Amino acid sequence: MQFTAEHDQIRSTLKRFIDQEINPHVDKWEEEGIFPAHDVFKGLGDLGLLGVNKPVEYGGLGLDWSYSAVVAETLGHINCGGVPMAIGVQTDMATPALARYGSDAAKDDFLRPSIAGDYVACLGVSEIGSGSDVASIKTTAKKDGDDYVINGGKMWTTNGVQVYWMCLLANTSDDQAHKNKTLICLPLRDESGKHRKGVEVARKLDKLGMRSSDTAQFFFEDVRAPQRYRIGEEGAGFMYQMVQFQEERLWGALSSIVGMEGTVVETIEYTRQRKAFGQSILDNQVVHFRMAELMTEIEALRALSWQAVEHMMAGEDATRLASMAKLKCGRLLREVADSCIQYWGGMGYMEETPVARAYRDGRLASIAGGADEVMLSIICKYMGTLPGRSNRK
Ligand SMILES: Cc1cc2nc3c(=O)[nH]c(=O)nc-3n(C[C@H](O)[C@H](O)[C@H](O)COP(=O)(O)OP(=O)(O)OC[C@H]3O[C@@H](n4cnc5c(N)ncnc54)[C@H](O)[C@@H]3O)c2cc1C
Repeated sequence: MQFTAEHDQIRSTLKRFIDQEINPHVDKWEEEGIFPAHDVFKGLGDLGLLGVNKPVEYGGLGLDWSYSAVVAETLGHINCGGVPMAIGVQTDMATPALARYGSDAAKDDFLRPSIAGDYVACLGVSEIGSGSDVASIKTTAKKDGDDYVINGGKMWTTNGVQVYWMCLLANTSDDQAHKNKTLICLPLRDESGKHRKGVEVARKLDKLGMRSSDTAQFFFEDVRAPQRYRIGEEGAGFMYQMVQFQEERLWGALSSIVGMEGTVVETIEYTRQRKAFGQSILDNQVVHFRMAELMTEIEALRALSWQAVEHMMAGEDATRLASMAKLKCGRLLREVADSCIQYWGGMGYMEETPVARAYRDGRLASIAGGADEVMLSIICKYMGTLPGRSNRK
């Protein structure tokens, strides 16, 4: 990948913002179980960082996705997983389909203010009974006059407590499960900031990790949304969401790299000064060899992720490589945190030690945004080894 001066500038602008406006507050936000998304997003929006690859007409920088990939990688400098995940939801999970397929009206009303950092967005795909099996969602959006009337609910919605609008996946007909779904921009609040009629945040979810990111469960009862807020064609929502998942999964892999490197470097520093049996812990070959192995694996993930970005840039199908990168990222986050926490000993088990947070936060990547097994199924499809499925080379 050839990086330009513009890539470097985006990297340094974001790094400065993280050092000055985010990292000094992360410990407090982790403790409080929420971060001020409106303030952080406004700051990022003012710097143009919430829409680097989005159209200029809607306030984006109009660059290609390699610049978004640089943003994702740089977000790894944030000292937790929760805040970068919330930013990634805004830039690469809730808005790609809207930018790609949305009408001018929908882009004006939702994309522009999301890029500016005036609105917080979320992605409503998963439901209480449907996570891995996206096709099985039950939420419906039925036509009534010029509106859709929405009933059902969404589960594990990142940004759900502070959010203004949801990129909602709902069933709009009784057709086959892959042909009956539609993406809709659903405003969740009125002008006063209160939840609209029929929108209920059932609860703010208490999580193992990613503690500064707010996650909610929603119920919808006869919630109305104008049909002009539909994203693209009716019935094409499942396909749009599968495309949108590519950005999400690659974003996940790229955003994990810098944090893992940091965990290894901090572990080397700690074990170098920590003595046992008359020598530093690091001087045991099993320890410094392990650190070398982990760094090698992280570099391999970086190479794989950027190779997937290059495929995307070339207009090729990046699904296979993006799925491999997501799978590798989930497994490596667990491996790095587990190996490193071991060599921190008792200190690694303390809340004050960053590796403890990395251990908790990293566990999510093998579950959310498509579990490891879902990634394996996609890779198998491309390999032609998934029983009963055609070989989609
Ligand atoms: C903190 C957090 C944030 C999230 N944010 C969002 C969000 O913003 N928006 C959103 O829509 N969703 C979000 N999710 C939901 C997430 O994407 C789902 O949890 C995920 O897709 C897995 O679905 P599930 O939990 O229903 O697991 P299930 O589908 O119940 O699967 C359980 C487990 O079974 C295994 N499994 C599944 N399928 C197979 C298979 N074919 N073969 C073998 N094993 C299998 C996997 O190991 C999986 O983890 C979030 C989840 C969490 C925890």
